[in-house]
Amino acid sequence: MNSSAHFVLPSGPLPSVVVERDAWIRAQRPDLDAARRGLPTDRPAAWLWECEPDGTGGVRPVLTVFLTNRECPWRCLMCDLWHHTTLDPVPPGQIPRQIDVALAAAGPVPPNTRLKLYNAGSFFDPGAIPVADYPAIAQRCRDFESVLVECHPSLVRNGVRVREFSEQILPARLEVAMGLETAHPEILERLNKRMTLEAFCAAAGVLRDVGCSTRAFVLVQPPFMPAALAVEWAERSASFAFSSGIQWVTLIPTRGGNGALEPLREVGAFTPPTLSCLEDAVDAAMASRAGMLLADVWDLERFSEDPSTFQARRDRLEWMNRLQCVLPRVGGG
Ligand code: SF4
Repeated sequence: MNSSAHFVLPSGPLPSVVVERDAWIRAQRPDLDAARRGLPTDRPAAWLWECEPDGTGGVRPVLTVFLTNRECPWRCLMCDLWHHTTLDPVPPGQIPRQIDVALAAAGPVPPNTRLKLYNAGSFFDPGAIPVADYPAIAQRCRDFESVLVECHPSLVRNGVRVREFSEQILPARLEVAMGLETAHPEILERLNKRMTLEAFCAAAGVLRDVGCSTRAFVLVQPPFMPAALAVEWAERSASFAFSSGIQWVTLIPTRGGNGALEPLREVGAFTPPTLSCLEDAVDAAMASRAGMLLADVWDLERFSEDPSTFQARRDRLEWMNRLQCVLPRVGGG
């Protein structure tokens, strides 16, 4: 770790004690309780068709289902996934029902389709996805090529639950995605993820032993990261994930708007990355990648400094995702 590891922005109003920090993060949020109480649990929050690189220059169809369920018990500083979660656990039977609704609306599933089941938290959190529902969920997964779920590294535990579900969905292959966020230890601690780099590595090792595919999410320019170090640390974080045995790494530009990042932005402790910063980070991480490297291009326009060049620059990132190589910069980016 070089000296830049210790050069981070002041924490501003964010408390350093976990319990106080947790309460502060909650206090910054808009009050959405009334809307969250009214969320129906018999259908998913959303579903969509998309395409994803297959690692060989082509793409695979992907059906992504956003499940409605209880809020994740962590309160990460940058997370806005709680917006569409319920205040109470979802009763058994509702998650398979939600998948049924998405499958019926999505229509025929082409061969080699991948399924993503996103639950705004950890799939292997029994308070979010009832364990009793695993067989019914698995039954709905078997026709897909693979099934991707997300999980906090702490809930990977010894891998028993992961193995059980991965065996239930056969012949579909299980993929588990975990948020590394950053390999910068001091900033990782302030993100309130309550996870160490060692714990991330250990969870990656368990998933490898279980035999599932693995992904990691890395934030580009998280809070407290000086802009001048954002590219270096995005690349280092991707390298750290690959060296932990992770097969796919997605670089995500840090998005504000969740309530907690705004007071930090006011005191200069958080600045969203520019599109140029994301491009630099992707170029650097792509050049040194030891696995599949993806740029998250969702809602990318908000980071663009120049509307006239945006589409060409977005297209370039999408082609890089597909071809897994660095392409010439376009549009002055
Ligand atoms: S673990 Fe994931 S879902 Fe839970 S609060 Fe953190 S970022 Fe959000």
